[in-house]
Amino acid sequence: MVKRQIVKIDEELCTGCGECVLPCAEGAIQIIDGKARVVREELCDGAGFCIGVCPEGALSIEVREAPDFDESAAREATRRRNEEGETFIRQGCYICSREETETPLLPVRHKGESKWVCTRCLPHLIHG
Ligand code: SF4
Repeated sequence: MVKRQIVKIDEELCTGCGECVLPCAEGAIQIIDGKARVVREELCDGAGFCIGVCPEGALSIEVREAPDFDESAAREATRRRNEEGETFIRQGCYICSREETETPLLPVRHKGESKWVCTRCLPHLIHG
């Protein structure tokens, strides 16, 4: 166990909609008994890209004791999910809404939120 960043789920706010399950490429989140849960903490890298998809604001990042992020287990979980044919929920640029099927998206953090920005809009963020 180490002290590190990891996703935190507010059960009171979570409606169990499942929007956060597929965007977590590592498969760390599942819906159990109608609520999102981090089922394997070692698969959560704490990057927080699930946060932006939650319509209820139930996801956040906290620093606490947790198992180390296991990169090889996360890679294996991702490979298995792809083999099983799980589809992904397309993410869009928060500025122009173009989706990842149209243009590469990059993650950005701003004022505590995780967002995606496309390569066309990124220069505006950098240069103003
Ligand atoms: S997206 Fe938010 S409300 Fe929906 S299951 Fe995940 S944590 Fe719960």
